[in-house]
Amino acid sequence: MSRPYNFSPGPATLPESVLQQAAAEMLDWHGSGMSVMEMSHRGSDYGLIIEQCEADLRELLAIPPHYRVLFLQGGAQAQNAVLPLNLAALQPQRQMDYVVTGSWSQKSAEEALKYGDAQVVASAASPNHPVVGGHSGYTHIPNPATWRLRPQASYVHLCSNETVHGVEFHQLPDLRALGSGAPLAIDFSSHVLSRPLDWSRVALAYGGAQKNIGPAGLTLVVLREDLLGHALPICPSVFDYRLQANNQSMLNTPPTYAIYIAGLTLQWIKAQREGDLTGLAAVEARNIAKARLLYDCIDGSQLYENRVDPACRSRMNVPFFLRDESRNAAFLAGAAERGLLQLKGHKMVGGMRASLYNAMPLAGVQALVEWLREFERQS
Ligand code: PMP
Repeated sequence: MSRPYNFSPGPATLPESVLQQAAAEMLDWHGSGMSVMEMSHRGSDYGLIIEQCEADLRELLAIPPHYRVLFLQGGAQAQNAVLPLNLAALQPQRQMDYVVTGSWSQKSAEEALKYGDAQVVASAASPNHPVVGGHSGYTHIPNPATWRLRPQASYVHLCSNETVHGVEFHQLPDLRALGSGAPLAIDFSSHVLSRPLDWSRVALAYGGAQKNIGPAGLTLVVLREDLLGHALPICPSVFDYRLQANNQSMLNTPPTYAIYIAGLTLQWIKAQREGDLTGLAAVEARNIAKARLLYDCIDGSQLYENRVDPACRSRMNVPFFLRDESRNAAFLAGAAERGLLQLKGHKMVGGMRASLYNAMPLAGVQALVEWLREFERQS
């Protein structure tokens, strides 16, 4: 029997073959007599797992050799503090520039205030579009030419895909061209590995694994080597990027099982094919097709709407609203009957949200679109 389609924003759907492999290897990983959960993180078996995981991640995302990969705990929200704890002192003024394009970058900016002079240098929050009636002001990305970047900033932070509001940077800003020499740090939690990443524009990227990579509990940090070694004295040792880099992410016990599942997912991505495309390129092409199918359906209807500027609509998270909100419960009930799960929108925004991560097949989006059309005909 086929499984239902799960549109959860995260923790989210994983490739079925990954779950099957994990199940098959649950009691005895490769003849070791142990579950991966039961292995010492310092043993040779686990060494193979984490090394392969890093190698595959580097290959898929074309991570340059002078960048380090850290496998940490604490989730993306811990990074809201860990990032300033490590990078605020890159410049003596401890200025940190935040671009706010949704609720997640807003949270990041608020947390950073504890560690220095954090400032919102551009915001998409609009007093003209308050959060009422199921809509939010976060529907666009302010033109980078208008960002009030500070020349002495230690870093610039943005969230490259806003999971709640469905706003995605399809192109990252070139800070040098904007007159800033600061490193760019991005929260890529909800679109990591859905598309390639231009490392020439990014000095540090972090994200929780529970959307496109694996289970919750693993936080990825990929950063340029020159950013190591600047942590404030109050930074907890397990969150000091340099100490973790020097200890292969094993200053404390890393989230071993989550890293193992991440490794299986990376192998799944490498094996994907779409026409002539393979690996991440194949996955990206499929993500583009899935998003187009859903946005075209929404835009072509009288009942549904998505208010995000088409130039920055997220391929991964598609919030949409029924123009007649009294029909929300009926929509969700009918969806669940058809095996289309977890479509309710975030409580901050309301309405619906369909998350179309890598593991969501095109057939899942086709089934959703069929239901959208059928429900509109019934209305
Ligand atoms: N940033 C983004 C973009 C997210 O989507 C999320 C989780 N939805 C977070 C941060 C917070 O992640 P965590 O709960 O793992 O701290």
